Amino acid sequence: MMKGETMEQLRTQLDEINMDLLRLLSRRADIVQRIGRVKQAQGVQRFDPLREKEMLDRIVSANPGPFDDSTIRHLFKQIFQASLQLQEEEKMHLLVSRKRRAEDTVVEVKGVRIGDGHPIVVAGPCSVETREQMETVGQGLRAQGIVVMRGGAYKPRTSPYDFQGLGREGLVMLRETADKYGMVAVSEIVNPADIEMATQYVDIIQIGARNMQNFELLKAAGSVRTPVLLKRGLSATIEELLFAAEYIMSRGNDQIILCERGIRTYEKATRNTLDISAVPILKQESHLPVFVDISHSTGRKDIMIPVAKAALAAGADGIMVEVHPEPSVALSDAKQQINLEQFGQLMDALREARYLPPVAERVATR
Ligand code: PEP
Ligand code: MN
Repeated sequence: MMKGETMEQLRTQLDEINMDLLRLLSRRADIVQRIGRVKQAQGVQRFDPLREKEMLDRIVSANPGPFDDSTIRHLFKQIFQASLQLQEEEKMHLLVSRKRRAEDTVVEVKGVRIGDGHPIVVAGPCSVETREQMETVGQGLRAQGIVVMRGGAYKPRTSPYDFQGLGREGLVMLRETADKYGMVAVSEIVNPADIEMATQYVDIIQIGARNMQNFELLKAAGSVRTPVLLKRGLSATIEELLFAAEYIMSRGNDQIILCERGIRTYEKATRNTLDISAVPILKQESHLPVFVDISHSTGRKDIMIPVAKAALAAGADGIMVEVHPEPSVALSDAKQQINLEQFGQLMDALREARYLPPVAERVATR
């Protein structure tokens, strides 16, 4: 009887000690996380083997027993490792991550909402070429209810002998056309020094695949409040794309649209290989809107409709497509640009499949 009581008392004490240990471990973890944040802010490595050795030595030297030193060392090593893992996990919680922000980010520009569940079609020529070209496309896009127009003015061409774009003059033409037809304008900027200037002309700054890891450009884009459309690099992993977006967001600009535009593989049937799985992965991992560029990913016009449907079925918040009044004479990407008639067919197909609202509804809601 007496023995039973003692056993119960001892067990109660053990339970209390367990709870104390748990509280202490949690308190310890909290402090470790705070240290991790300080280290991150200072850009210091999180794992400090010297510091860990010092802590272990101090603990072992104070060991009152009955555990032998190696057991104590082993137990504390486990605690240290778990804490470090905690720091690592937190380090991976980027600003662009869903773990940081559960709700979808909606990019809002002049009344156009991107990422609110209603897919957006961004269309326009690969390059801004002439006023007439822009006028024809602008009118055609507007007739299809397009609200975001693209047009490249600074073209990052593979060959230096290819058309490099009209520069600022191209931005002016795009601005005029977009204004005339009540659209917002998106155009690629390649030079960090041009970001500030570009905000006068474009509503969304595009950072192209070739510049996805141009960190100075990313920082410059992060320092303005103009939304950024960030394209995935030709050989960039999903993680690298998210880190590139983090560069922008960590500077204070959270208006970012991610764009899957195909990656380099051995496949030659398409210009790049559209990584369709990147869409649901990016949507899961990040709170940012995700677009799919169906022109640069495929490099061909004959599969635009099923590819666009696939992108939207996979959960893309929008698609980008290159449209030119006369693709065969286009100064860049002549092979992949579609004309206005083909664009109309694409839009019809997407409306018919209910990826986009029917015309009547569209007109009524805008
Ligand atoms: C573009 O959209 O004009 C372009 C050059 O695309 P990317 O950067 O994806 O090659
Ligand atoms: Mn192009």
